[in-house]
Amino acid sequence: MIRTVNCDFCWSKHVVRKGFRKNMVVIKQKYFCNDCEKWFVVDDGFKRMRSKPEHIVRALHEYSDGVSLKKVRDHLSQHDNVKVTKWAIRQWVVRYSKLLKKTKRDSALQRLKGLSTTMKNISVSKKHISVT
Ligand SMILES: [Zn+2]
Repeated sequence: MIRTVNCDFCWSKHVVRKGFRKNMVVIKQKYFCNDCEKWFVVDDGFKRMRSKPEHIVRALHEYSDGVSLKKVRDHLSQHDNVKVTKWAIRQWVVRYSKLLKKTKRDSALQRLKGLSTTMKNISVSKKHISVT
């Protein structure tokens, strides 16, 4: 997995990693931009399971029940204080849909297929982070 991190403020690539910040559910990488001399924080990706399994599973269920990625995201944010991107939720569906019953899984994956083109564009337009 290759990650490119750009400054949140000026999109400069001249950023350095400066340790991490940790709370209950989120592990974030802190970066310092050498160009505009500001700190910013980037979600350190799904790899580290920064969300609790129960949140992921519920998000999967909601998505397979027809709830939009945006609403699933808002729900996590408002009710559980879990900040994730729609992209992250999409990754959950890809990786963890096998946890769902077959009918739900099929429905979730079917919806994802319809979304894939749109989601590609969204990931590209997220300037400060790109995950391949
Ligand atoms: Zn900057």
